[in-house]
Amino acid sequence: MLKKLKETQKELQDLKAALNEHAIVAVTDSQGNIIQINEKFCQISKYSREELLGQTHRIINSGYHPKEFFEKLWQTISSGEVWKGEICNRAKDGELYWVATTIYPVIGDQKSPLQYVAIRADITQRKRSEKEAKQMAFYDPLTNLPNRRLLKERLEQAALTQSKGGGECAMLMLDLDNFKETNDFFGHNIGDELLRLIADRLTQNVRGTDTVARFGGDEFIILLENLDTDPEVAGQQMMKVADKIRSALATGFFLAGRHVSSSVSIGVTPFNAKTPIYEALKQADIAMYQAKSLGRDQVCLFKPAMLVEVEAQAQRMADLRHAILRDEFKLFYQPIVSSTGTIQGYEALIRWQHPELGMISPADFIPLLEQSGLIMVVGRWVLKTALKKLALWAQDPETQHLTLAVNISAVQFANDRFVSSVETALEAIGAPPSQLFMELTENTFHHNTKQLIERINRLKLLGIRFALDDFGTGYSSLSYLKSLPLDTLKIDRSFVTPVTTDPKSAAITQTILALAHILNIKTVAEGVETVEQAEFLRASGCDAFQGYLFGKPQANTL
Ligand code: C2E
Ligand code: CA
Ligand code: CA
Repeated sequence: MLKKLKETQKELQDLKAALNEHAIVAVTDSQGNIIQINEKFCQISKYSREELLGQTHRIINSGYHPKEFFEKLWQTISSGEVWKGEICNRAKDGELYWVATTIYPVIGDQKSPLQYVAIRADITQRKRSEKEAKQMAFYDPLTNLPNRRLLKERLEQAALTQSKGGGECAMLMLDLDNFKETNDFFGHNIGDELLRLIADRLTQNVRGTDTVARFGGDEFIILLENLDTDPEVAGQQMMKVADKIRSALATGFFLAGRHVSSSVSIGVTPFNAKTPIYEALKQADIAMYQAKSLGRDQVCLFKPAMLVEVEAQAQRMADLRHAILRDEFKLFYQPIVSSTGTIQGYEALIRWQHPELGMISPADFIPLLEQSGLIMVVGRWVLKTALKKLALWAQDPETQHLTLAVNISAVQFANDRFVSSVETALEAIGAPPSQLFMELTENTFHHNTKQLIERINRLKLLGIRFALDDFGTGYSSLSYLKSLPLDTLKIDRSFVTPVTTDPKSAAITQTILALAHILNIKTVAEGVETVEQAEFLRASGCDAFQGYLFGKPQANTL
């Protein structure tokens, strides 16, 4: 027996020598008391040999694993089986480290283990990368909130819990109301900081069991779980939470010494095991857009009728895509009359002759074109059609003096290739640029004002003139008047209509006219419908008029 033991120990010695190079090795007696360790064990655990010998492995227990984990381990090795697994240990200085561990029992004659040899490899780095990868895969790096992927898992889990008799769930889709402006105005650092603060405030305003996820950009999704089992009561609960969140964010934040607004529009939809996830997302999204269109900083609950509206809009969008090909757009022309009563030019106004719905007003489809980017294509068509008209007028002495104004959408004008596309069109069609007006609205200049002014100046070098449209409806009109190189100001109908009935409107209109005169900018009054209005405006120094009094927009003028 002694010989056998000696042999065993010799084998063990050889094994240890080979392993010492690469592995963390420890040998314990049958009770688990450490009787041998190698240098690597000391290095990783940061305990000295003296501190470790005679101790059990409890000295490096990190508390990470539950009690049952070690019970199972002991069960395995004490019955003579090899145990393999990954263990998280704690070094003397408190730092955690991970080791891939194999424990071999050394079996004696009595068939029970005499010793245990534990061989470990340091896998701390791998564990750390795994953790980081998991964090990256499931959490948004900016806010540390769950990302779309984790949200999807939580939604699936929530549906499952609900189906097993849990309460109703709700999905809340939040979209910041002015995030783009905040980013443009304060810069991206403040924008990022704002998102982090919002993430915190959202988390503070829901229960720990609810999920707040970053859905992308400035969109967040909140999943409320375990609401009442009665859908009606649950409906009230979700609206209450949504409104609490809305008002918590409506107060804004102080960032870099300034008040930054953080109001949100929230779409709410009930969610349970019967709702496919994509369906719930769509519903919450539709409700959120409804909240936006009701003026933002609102909460809206999804209703099936909203879907009908959205589908109608999608249909209209599809129709719009074909409208150019089918030649359904028309330009109408409305005269602009000088103070002496002669027609000095026209404004081109687009119309859509829908095959089933009839004539559709631009107010109903221009926003759709802008949202979808289709305005670029349609805008080019408008410009070309208008230029063809100008080229035609140029050939006739009777009409060559006429000007033609086209409306240019902010989206169109913001495009970097706008100037070159105008140059190309002018050249191809051979129209006189001196007779062309471009009408821009104030909202064109909310961003990159300097660059856009340069753009205007380049076009002015070609001979094109510029009018500021709908003047008086924006909010910073006066500063624009000073900085933009304008030829004409078009006073909005909302000021023109009441000039003869409301003294305040009359006074404002007169002031605008006087100001434009001083700044050497010509004026056109829009929406003139009565002789009285025209008389008042003429007397106040207005240069030109446009409105039903002088002529409605018409299909074929000249
Ligand atoms: P806008 O540029 O302010 O055009 C003037 C609008 O006032 C036109 O509406 C015109 O029909 C209407 N109007 C003219 N005189 C009177 C009047 O005496 N009384 C009343 N009540 N209304 C009058 P329309 O044609 O429906 O166009 C609406 C808006 O759609 C335009 O407002 C313009 O912003 C946009 N738009 C029209 N055509 C185009 C286009 O080719 N491109 C772009 N980007 N926008 C366009
Ligand atoms: Ca206009
Ligand atoms: Ca206008």
